[in-house]
Amino acid sequence: MLVGLETPGGVVPADAVAVASVVEARSAVLDALGVPLADLEVFGSVAARHVAADPVGRTTVPRVWAVGNVAEPMAQVVMVAAAGTRTGALLNAELVAEDQERRLAAG
Ligand SMILES: Cc1cc2nc3c(=O)[nH]c(=O)nc-3n(C[C@H](O)[C@H](O)[C@H](O)COP(=O)(O)OP(=O)(O)OC[C@H]3O[C@@H](n4cnc5c(N)ncnc54)[C@H](O)[C@@H]3O)c2cc1C
Repeated sequence: MLVGLETPGGVVPADAVAVASVVEARSAVLDALGVPLADLEVFGSVAARHVAADPVGRTTVPRVWAVGNVAEPMAQVVMVAAAGTRTGALLNAELVAEDQERRLAAG
């Protein structure tokens, strides 16, 4: 089927048109936790809406961590698996440190 692609220079006939989609993290749980979404720009265009977590997965909300495509929309399976392992270990370390502080404070 022939389609017409409208451009600033006029309508260009085309057999097919490929368009980029914008991926967006599902927001219901994030909204409930108060975690904001941010635009992820690639080459000057918004390519995704994601959780802007720090490099180890901490979000702006204390005790809420985000890892995987929700935080890194362009990541592939191997990167997401590695990030999950790293974040799990750091999260565990943070919980252990909190436990120690609580016990020291209790005397
Ligand atoms: C079209 C396409 C092709 C791809 N091809 C490749 C490829 O060839 N190789 C590669 O390495 N990567 C590929 N990827 C990327 C890969 O799919 C992702 O990197 C990977 O799946 C991310 O894993 P994740 O666990 O972060 O997220 P997901 O795999 O998206 O898992 C998140 C899960 O959470 C669930 N969920 C969401 N909200 C809730 C909720 N409120 N309660 C409970 N569950 C919820 C979702 O249903 C989903 O099952 C591709 C991605 C796409 C979209």
